[in-house]
Amino acid sequence: MRYDCIIIGSGPTGLSAAINLKTYNKNFLWFGNANLSEKVEKAELVNNYPGLCGVSGKELLAAFLEHKEKLGLEITDTLSTQFVCDCSKEKVSRALSTISKKDLDDIINDGESIEVKCQFCNKAYTFEIDELKEIRKG
Ligand SMILES: [Zn+2]
Repeated sequence: MRYDCIIIGSGPTGLSAAINLKTYNKNFLWFGNANLSEKVEKAELVNNYPGLCGVSGKELLAAFLEHKEKLGLEITDTLSTQFVCDCSKEKVSRALSTISKKDLDDIINDGESIEVKCQFCNKAYTFEIDELKEIRKG
């Protein structure tokens, strides 16, 4: 299943993200505490929340939980996730084609294949001199 967004955290910001994503019918995963926020609950007095000056943490948390329930928002903290990078030799090749011709010439003149690693998943792609010459042609 594909998601538009993943929310990590169930404090005020995480809840706000969940509310907005739900409002815009986005498909998302929400990782956090089923009780939303211990920090909020423990606050004696909250004076820095728009529209709710002077409430206790418990009152604010109750309002958060009510809002969460009304929208049917669920924290999906038990799903396992997997990071998948969609890099490919073709994409790395396109990235190499943005290097200046002079720099590519320097690499080609060194006479050895090069290895380029994806910055996201660390997968290594090897380019032989002939491939580098093709990239240089554009
Ligand atoms: Zn990658």
